Amino acid sequence: MKSSKLIVFDCDSTLSSIEGVDELAALRDTDIKRQIEDLTNQAMNGEVPIAEVFGKRLELIQPSQEMVDKIGQMYIDTIVPGVVETITTLKEAGWNIAIVSGGFTPVILPLAKHLGITEVQAVPLFFKPDGSYDGFDTSAPTTRNGGKPEVVKKLTTHYQADITIMVGDGISDLETKDTVHSFIGFGGVVARPQVKDSSEYYTEKFSEIINFLPKPA
Ligand SMILES: [Mg+2]
Repeated sequence: MKSSKLIVFDCDSTLSSIEGVDELAALRDTDIKRQIEDLTNQAMNGEVPIAEVFGKRLELIQPSQEMVDKIGQMYIDTIVPGVVETITTLKEAGWNIAIVSGGFTPVILPLAKHLGITEVQAVPLFFKPDGSYDGFDTSAPTTRNGGKPEVVKKLTTHYQADITIMVGDGISDLETKDTVHSFIGFGGVVARPQVKDSSEYYTEKFSEIINFLPKPA
């Protein structure tokens, strides 16, 4: 059987140096931004379940189509150094590449397109005809803890991958550790001690990820 390999990236604070939800909040006002950052950090540090903060953050932010477009561009403007080159190298080496994120699909798609990544598993948003916020897809797995491992497992099956690698900065990424060949903690944007301590590999330099991958036989 032809072997297939899959590498999965988190998006926020991994491929891009922003947290999309925080920046969406900042477009509303600074007080909402502070509240959202607190909620996000609590979730990323594993202090509160993701599902608990998910709807709450969106109700506060009310992201419109226009806001989504702005932050979509910001993701591209704040790409982490080394990402473009590393993704190119991975493609040339035959890796399937996916983004799995608890962020919002319409905000992430421009960055994915920019990087030539077609597999994006995140949280769809809905808009009213006038472009105002109309809710999110509550069935999206990454709106809750345990969502990322579920998605990574599905992708592994879909790509018939015998090697799957996960790269990310957060606790929700670390949750995939038992479902992947190896978990690479990335601390180049936010260094989380809990992730660093539990990662099989850990780096603060994105291009170093290549050194942690299994070498072709
Ligand atoms: Mg992240």
